[in-house]
Amino acid sequence: GEHGTPPMPWFGMDIGGTLTKLIYFEPKDISVEEEEQERESLKQIRKYLTSNVAYGKTGVRDEHLELKNREFGGRRGSVHFIRFPTSEMDAFLQMAKTKHFPSLARSICATGGGAYKFEEEFNKNVNLELHKFDELDCLIKGIHYIDRHNPNCECYYYDQPRSVEACEKRPYNFRNPYPYLVVNVGSGVSILVVYSPDNYRRVSGSSLGGGTFLGLCCLLTGCETFEEAIDLASEGDSKNVDKLVRDIYGGDYSRFNLSGDTVASSFGNMMCKERRNSISKPDLAKATLVMITNNIGSLARMCAVQEGIDRVVFVGNFLRVNVISMKLLAFAMDYWSEGTMKALFLEHEGYFGAMGCLLELMS
Ligand code: ADP
Repeated sequence: GEHGTPPMPWFGMDIGGTLTKLIYFEPKDISVEEEEQERESLKQIRKYLTSNVAYGKTGVRDEHLELKNREFGGRRGSVHFIRFPTSEMDAFLQMAKTKHFPSLARSICATGGGAYKFEEEFNKNVNLELHKFDELDCLIKGIHYIDRHNPNCECYYYDQPRSVEACEKRPYNFRNPYPYLVVNVGSGVSILVVYSPDNYRRVSGSSLGGGTFLGLCCLLTGCETFEEAIDLASEGDSKNVDKLVRDIYGGDYSRFNLSGDTVASSFGNMMCKERRNSISKPDLAKATLVMITNNIGSLARMCAVQEGIDRVVFVGNFLRVNVISMKLLAFAMDYWSEGTMKALFLEHEGYFGAMGCLLELMS
């Protein structure tokens, strides 16, 4: 590029176990002269990616997350956030081919496991080289960058998480967050301690993550999509499925401060035939969501205690359109830490890895 920047188009891609996240920077400061010189294929890609019809049946551009009128790499424009199921990678490669992508860029920056898994296909089928970056490095860089460049508040928390009526989303000032814990809930879970922008450690993880929720929910309710699973859960009551402390004690287990409403055994009522016959699909979806969420919350809290940290940031697409889990995590962190720990959330949920990857392209 002219100013020591790479040639356009500028992309960052995070190829995850379930979803591929793509970030595209669209320059808006294109002069007439530049537009005239712009190669037809680049123009096409720009128009295509920013149109609303571009992503077929399964791809989505998250318009509400677009960062408008931003300075990036010496240019001014929009940062676009796009996702599609990783299972549709073949269709994406086909698109890259028909839009003459390889005539513009010889390589593309990618992170996530799929950067390794699909490397050969990118090479062979579309003649694109993948520049691979570590997904956790990218995640940390992406969080730092987006928090500082979103003119609206990126970080938020739930105030009064113990009260259903008063619980409310509030902006959180994340300017000096160190040290903090990141709990990335994608298909699986990774937990990192972040000491400074370039110093972090992966401390734990779990295979019981967003993929587990979706997989179990599909099995138990016959639903087909994440949105459907969340919709079902929002209408269900997990108390019919779970065995609560009160089902066992008849009330609170007060000696150890356990309220009767606490889940004693997830799905514990399902060993009984009559109970099985009296629950609904929404109940099962809700119980699955609560089980997975509480397990993540409990693991996060143990890591935070171990590391002596009181701010825990939850990210990953498991939290997409999933206020139930966010409020539950906010409640659990507050309740079980006796008010000493705070659950934080970020608006760009699952896109930080892809953002970090785009930053790698520019550096
Ligand atoms: P990964 O990088 O492992 O793909 P993500 O952060 O993208 O992880 O999160 C994937 C999880 O997000 C899924 O397991 C599911 O729980 C949830 N999810 C949210 N939206 C969708 C969607 N449209 N399709 C599939 N899963 C989704």
